[in-house]
Amino acid sequence: PAAAAVCLDLDGNPIAPLTICMIGAGGFIGSHLCEKLMAETRHVVLAVDVYCDKIRHLVDPAPPHLAGRISFHRLNIKNDSRLEGLIKMADLTINLAAICTPADYNTRPLDTIYSNFIDALPVVKYCSENSKRLIHFSTCEVYGKTIGSFLPKDHPLRKEPEFYVLKEDESPCIFGPIVKQRWSYACAKQLIERLIFAEGAENGLEFTIVRPFNWIGPRMDFIPGVDGPSEGVPRVLACFSNNLLRREPLKLVDGGQSQRTFVYIKDAIEAVVLMIENPARANGHIFNVGNPDNEVTVRELAQMMTEVYANVSGEAPLDEPMIDVSSSQFYGEGYDDSDKRIPDMSIINKQLGWNPKTPLKDLLETTLTYQHKTYKEAVKRQMSQASAT
Ligand code: NAD
Ligand code: UDP
Repeated sequence: PAAAAVCLDLDGNPIAPLTICMIGAGGFIGSHLCEKLMAETRHVVLAVDVYCDKIRHLVDPAPPHLAGRISFHRLNIKNDSRLEGLIKMADLTINLAAICTPADYNTRPLDTIYSNFIDALPVVKYCSENSKRLIHFSTCEVYGKTIGSFLPKDHPLRKEPEFYVLKEDESPCIFGPIVKQRWSYACAKQLIERLIFAEGAENGLEFTIVRPFNWIGPRMDFIPGVDGPSEGVPRVLACFSNNLLRREPLKLVDGGQSQRTFVYIKDAIEAVVLMIENPARANGHIFNVGNPDNEVTVRELAQMMTEVYANVSGEAPLDEPMIDVSSSQFYGEGYDDSDKRIPDMSIINKQLGWNPKTPLKDLLETTLTYQHKTYKEAVKRQMSQASAT
């Protein structure tokens, strides 16, 4: 019944099965998108990535019921001539490939800029030259800081939505100075957005740009020392999960005062499927995809995760569940932060009728249950090996 339900688009027209070239399909978002497309649609996926651990259950080998529906192509889009052929073979290209963990932006700014701008160029070019549709993943970080962040802390205008709500077609992009290399990622993403928009305006490229606002859920990033480098610093969900699994305090960067809105990955994926299947409504648009109702400070997030993890694991929280660290200690020089991220939802609501559903508490319960089941034993083993050596 699920498959039948999505066979008509939002205008009541039948949806023809598409071939989709999905670049970065082996990542967090890609793995959920592949699962959803396999379970609930008839589209065919050419999954491109340098690794496939997160989609192994779908591609290595593909289970019999998915024969002919999904194939994995291990390639680095930096330097592989097979890329153009795959884009030509597809009706639609979705580009998710990127370096997108803040710990890299100020410590590996060249890789960050190359990955988010230079490496995306051929993808845009091949789509434009071959008249193929492109869905490109940008980021909410292109908004940078809010206008209100430049007002004094207790200024009443900071409470006015015009000073903080982020609107695709109206809000400015406000980044810090060049020495704050944090903004290398946002700036590279902004320039690729402008290039795609210009390809649309000057050469008729059919494009959609997605700006995710902190999508989170199972399979996000890695747990350091278990399925990623011990010294690696993933995004906040995985950092805090790692601390909870190891029974160490959660580290609040610069007081944990920054605000974020978190959306459940499975809600967000529904928005992407609507974009895929409703090109007439999605082409030419930039979409915020987030959950404005799930706003917390990072400190509040740490508190909630501590409580939820205690419930799902049955382990009592530490006496001191959090500690403060400075951003220069945690991320090194050149770090800076987005103060607040509330997405305006009018465009996606009007074009695709999409709304997020899952409250933060519920999505943390599901996600931390997954983290505990998937990683607890492995973390214990790794900790006892580390203490033995
Ligand atoms: P991810 O790191 O899990 O996935 C990215 C994937 O791209 C990885 O599997 C990686 O191996 C692959 N990749 C990178 N460079 C490649 C290359 N040169 N050739 C082939 N494959 C390559 O990240 P994600 O969270 O799934 O994010 C996907 C996209 O969404 C990114 O563009 C990111 O900037 C954007 N985004 C995500 C979020 C979020 O909340 N998760 C927020 C803002 C923006
Ligand atoms: N953060 C934190 N402790 C950590 C990891 C991250 O306080 O262990 C903060 C970080 O400084 C930022 C927020 O959590 O304010 C979200 O960080 P994330 O890496 O998820 O990415 P961002 O939302 O900044 O793109």
